[in-house]
Amino acid sequence: MKKSAISRRSFLEQLSLSTVAVLGAGPLSAFAISQQTDRKLGVALAGLGKYSSRQLGPALKETKWCQLMGVVTGSKEKGEQWSKEYGFPVKNIYSYDTMAQLADNKDIDIVYVVTPNGLHAQHAIAAAKAGKHVICEKPMANTVAECDAIIAACKAAKVKLSIGYRLHFDPYHKELMRLAKEKDFGAFTTMTGDRGFIMQTKVWRADKKLAGGGPLMDLGIYIIHGACMTANGVAPVAVTAQEHPKTKPEMFTDVEEGINWTMEFPGGATCTAQTSYQHSADKFRAEGPKGFIEFKEHAFTYRGMVVETSRGPLNFTPPNQQALQMDDFANCILTNRNTIIPGELGRRDLVIIEGIYKAAATGKRVEIKV
Ligand code: NAD
Repeated sequence: MKKSAISRRSFLEQLSLSTVAVLGAGPLSAFAISQQTDRKLGVALAGLGKYSSRQLGPALKETKWCQLMGVVTGSKEKGEQWSKEYGFPVKNIYSYDTMAQLADNKDIDIVYVVTPNGLHAQHAIAAAKAGKHVICEKPMANTVAECDAIIAACKAAKVKLSIGYRLHFDPYHKELMRLAKEKDFGAFTTMTGDRGFIMQTKVWRADKKLAGGGPLMDLGIYIIHGACMTANGVAPVAVTAQEHPKTKPEMFTDVEEGINWTMEFPGGATCTAQTSYQHSADKFRAEGPKGFIEFKEHAFTYRGMVVETSRGPLNFTPPNQQALQMDDFANCILTNRNTIIPGELGRRDLVIIEGIYKAAATGKRVEIKV
């Protein structure tokens, strides 16, 4: 059979099977892949808001293994602008209601869901049912039950699933994970975190149906994820929490304005944290018996991180986290290996978030069972 007569998907399946058979399950070299594929994997961004426009779209101009080949949007005009800028055909513009038709589009291998949190499950499941691999933004969904539904849909469709936890590709956070693993400063015992911004006007992030909750879902999740990294990948065993009194009850009608919480990890380490839509902060610190690492500024963002350790400051050149994250997922598909940020990590964080909300509502310590 001529190569041109092989469908993209079956070609990739054959590629994965044959190369895994020859080389084992490990990643292929860049050279090996480039010898066997004639184009990059196609990504469709679902939701063309700020994160897609400012970060993911531009990052897809830098990726090696994938490129923007389509969009899912509520605005045909916006889709056409993106088609012009990124050079994909207008036939690859879909609306949220026509996602099932993605099944017939061989240009698109991956759908990246970048809509409001409360719509992630609907859009991720639609993408999986259309046979596309899925990246889902954080938080994975509004509830653990929705996370379970996404994981089940991807398993049933035999497609890969990953979460947009881009900090796994940031050198400062990789150093945090290395320290947690190799214990240069001993096992970390005390963590603190603070993340917030001042919301000026009410947007979907303060609407429970679309956001699932307030700043804990949007910002606090970074501290939760960072603390689990610092605990060497382990989840907390229990949480306590208190919601902040509301200073703007007209804006935060059915979500918290801010919240304090503590996570207790196995072995006795703790993380004390707060998040708010009424103060600005982006900090994280972890201390062990022999030293500390402190993210003093921009702890969880894309650039401008100021990180000190007890051995002195860290100075890495910030990479494009999103380009590395999407390329790694594309490489997972091409080489049939597992992603380091699977749906189960997104689900774990929702289990912890649900525990924190329960602790705040009841005033009791809540045990976490992931
Ligand atoms: P945004 O408000 O800028 O964009 C949301 C998009 O969803 C818009 O294009 C909007 O038109 C579309 N949409 C579809 N249905 C909608 C509805 N019913 N109501 C409102 N909007 C609707 O938001 P954003 O900042 O791009 O965030 C999108 C997702 O990406 C969120 O889940 C957020 O948590 C995540 N995010 C992740 C990061 C990160 O660093 N990983 C950064 C920012 C946002």
